[in-house]
Amino acid sequence: MKNKRCQSCGMPITSNEQLGINKDGSINNDYCQYCFESGEFIDKISMEDYIDKCSEYGDQVGMTKEEMKEYCKNLFSYFKKMEMHLYP
Ligand SMILES: [Zn+2]
Repeated sequence: MKNKRCQSCGMPITSNEQLGINKDGSINNDYCQYCFESGEFIDKISMEDYIDKCSEYGDQVGMTKEEMKEYCKNLFSYFKKMEMHLYP
């Protein structure tokens, strides 16, 4: 679980309980429970919206909103969901 992040929203994942669930009830290793449930994405929001949301947390890590936005953009560009073109 080291350095694992939800491949949809970027939330750090530290335990299996935070992972989403597949249609067959098994654990999905790529996405968190807040993004993925019963084999489907819960929030149908675009990557830009996720990045906007993500930038709100800049304060917590000592970055300005703009810096956080850049950081998130970079982070999201590596995500599996991005690779698979799953963002709406
Ligand atoms: Zn997520």
